[in-house]
Amino acid sequence: MAYRDIGEPEPPISALALADWLRIPVQRTHRRALARFDAAEGLIYLGGASLRGGPRLHEALAHELGHAILHRYEAEQDEASASLVGLALMLPRGPFLRDVAELGRDLRALGARHVHCSPRMLETRLAWFDEQAGERFYRFRRFG
Ligand SMILES: [Zn+2]
Repeated sequence: MAYRDIGEPEPPISALALADWLRIPVQRTHRRALARFDAAEGLIYLGGASLRGGPRLHEALAHELGHAILHRYEAEQDEASASLVGLALMLPRGPFLRDVAELGRDLRALGARHVHCSPRMLETRLAWFDEQAGERFYRFRRFG
């Protein structure tokens, strides 16, 4: 998986920085509504007036990075998988679990440290480590 190649970065992790680390080009565009990984061109188009920054931009870009990683590893492509792989990239296991040990499951405190992640992203990542999560995350374990 990606982090074994690039090392585990420290939070807060920017999806734009992740794209650099993963060597996946991001092309800003005004023409496209949101974000899209183009497998044939090997790049991510990122555009849209709503993506001015903040967690929404990072979440959208992380999702597309998830598509790119699934493509790189020839894994099955679907929207839920892309989101979960993107989430594992934005909130890598080691640093995130260290933060949870320090701050607890307090979304405000975690959000202050992981400033590029929405509360929903943090909640989903927390759920990943619940023993009851079971099948939902099982097939993504190699990604984080
Ligand atoms: Zn998608």
